[in-house]
Amino acid sequence: MVEAFFPATDNPVSDRYQDLVQRAQRDPEEFWLAQAQRLVWHTQPMHASRSDFTGDVRVSWYEDGRLNAAENCLDRHVLYQPDNAALIWQGQEDGHREVISYRELHARVCRLGNVLRRLGVKKGDRVAIHLPMVAEGVISMLACARIGAVHVVLFGGFSAEGLAERLKDSGAVVVITADVARRGPKKIPSKTTMDTAINLCGAESTVRNVLVVPVTGADVLMQKGRDLSYTAEVALELPDCPPEIMNACDPLFLLYTSGSTGRPKGLVHSTGGYLVWASFTHELVFDAKPSDVFWCTADTSWITGHTYVVYGPLANGGTIVVYEGLPSWPQPGRWWDVIDQNQVSVFYTSPTVIRAAMREDDSVVQSRSLSSLRVLGSVGEPISPEAWKWFYAEVGRNACPVVDTWWQTETGGVMITSCAQNVAGKPGAAGLPLPGVAVTLKDAKGQDIENEGEGLLCLAHSWPGQAMTLWQDHERFRQTYFTTCPGHYFSGDGARRDATGYYWITGRVDDVVNVSGHRIGTAEIEDAVAEDHAVVESAAVGVPHDLKGQALVVFVVPKAEGTFDASAVNKAVAAGVGRYAVPEKIYVVPDLPKTRSGKIVRRLLRKIAANDLENMGDLSTLADPDIVAELIKLVAQQN
Ligand code: ATP
Ligand code: MG
Repeated sequence: MVEAFFPATDNPVSDRYQDLVQRAQRDPEEFWLAQAQRLVWHTQPMHASRSDFTGDVRVSWYEDGRLNAAENCLDRHVLYQPDNAALIWQGQEDGHREVISYRELHARVCRLGNVLRRLGVKKGDRVAIHLPMVAEGVISMLACARIGAVHVVLFGGFSAEGLAERLKDSGAVVVITADVARRGPKKIPSKTTMDTAINLCGAESTVRNVLVVPVTGADVLMQKGRDLSYTAEVALELPDCPPEIMNACDPLFLLYTSGSTGRPKGLVHSTGGYLVWASFTHELVFDAKPSDVFWCTADTSWITGHTYVVYGPLANGGTIVVYEGLPSWPQPGRWWDVIDQNQVSVFYTSPTVIRAAMREDDSVVQSRSLSSLRVLGSVGEPISPEAWKWFYAEVGRNACPVVDTWWQTETGGVMITSCAQNVAGKPGAAGLPLPGVAVTLKDAKGQDIENEGEGLLCLAHSWPGQAMTLWQDHERFRQTYFTTCPGHYFSGDGARRDATGYYWITGRVDDVVNVSGHRIGTAEIEDAVAEDHAVVESAAVGVPHDLKGQALVVFVVPKAEGTFDASAVNKAVAAGVGRYAVPEKIYVVPDLPKTRSGKIVRRLLRKIAANDLENMGDLSTLADPDIVAELIKLVAQQN
């Protein structure tokens, strides 16, 4: 395993960063009240945290403060930099591009805020946003924030069932959807799917109005009295909309998790604490400046899209890029063109995208300039040292720091990472906890692991970005996160701490495979497999085994057909992890089941590998549900 800093350094942590860590430790109240000054408040908070991880569990930040999130993302920047670009929208087709200044974005948010108010949306009401990556997605989120409505962003690719479940759970009164969305060469019938979803809700439907954004201009069925044209409605309104003054603990949004492990959880994020965390982490992790063109490639229906497409960069007055399309459509390397055309300086993406780019011919990335880039980031899954180094060398041209950021929907923003300019990176390691983040590793008995070691990744006390609860289910919140290690938040992930205090995420604890008493993290196996250059990506899972308890099975996606050699993979695992970890079986497959946010869904692979095909569970969060049937077929053929 690679333990060295890359590039090599004797001074991995800056003085400035060490100072922040010490201040946050010495007097957290003072530190977090000072950080609150990143925002403008109508009433200054006098307290930072009133959180408590024992008893009923309370997450409460800045509870006596009052503010508005949209005002923080727009109005204060309109005062000083009205003509600076707030949002660059880049369509998937060349020529489709729009640059929206802070003044203009403010006006468009206000018009929509007024529409929603006219439709009777009140503070605390839920509004569902079901849009592709268009400017109206960001505008809709901020318009909700402006009037105190709670936004619920739903993935554009969800099935009608997936949408219906979330509409019912959230009780949304208004839906903002598209006529039709573009996804590469495909057209997604957003409005029709939403109609079916609302019908599926039946008597339980709470939706009064549907606003339809004309993304392609296609003709769609409009239900009289319920459905309204977004364009016609905003045209009726003035570009001025007084913000609703919110308590810091009023919900800003509710968001469902990716659903990698089962039924999605609707996490509720606060207005004040969340926004402080978004602003603080965005600046510190990416060394972000208002002059940066910040492109986070996440869909806005994922927490990464909330915090680093919208709230972090806009709270900090930067320029965001919202790109409609796929990485390699209409041509390979399309995303590199988006970077060059928009002079993107910070690029934040996921390992799955990096792995796909590695699969392409090197000339694809090498033929682009990419000279505007300054900082690179990765999120969503562990990134193998192999992919990390490729990203650094090929995309960053050996000059841009790579930050691998560990965090979750629940945490609101980055928690463990390296930091551009402040904390050096180590390929394969997530990095150090941010200032004020109290990571503890627990062993199976609940004891703290000091110094080097591996255990359950827990947090000893709250941080401003922490979700306050699960929507209308505080008990599930308490049970899910606070009972495994009482008095602590348990993330569900495992991690190893190395001699320099860096954390290595070993994967979800549920994914740990126990072969003849050896506990093996799936990330470890996959890193070893990635050493084989013929492999694009892989997923390791455990299946029940009579003698060993569990046996290890690896699904491998080869770079090109025919180039794959199972014995090379076995050798790589034996060398990288140990002979005991050599897989029982390797399945060669064209792709893996992934969530919309690009994460591998090991829960399904476990079932497929064990030929346990009943109750496959919720498939609505998969990017491509058809892959499941294909994998079942391929596994049967290879057995
Ligand atoms: P669900 O909770 O419904 O199963 P999910 O956990 O995939 O879904 P998210 O909150 O989007 O939903 O993902 C957070 C998880 O993603 C983390 O708990 C961790 O397992 C993984 N993860 C995110 N970033 C990293 C990273 N940089 N390194 C390793 N793992 C990561
Ligand atoms: Mg999770």
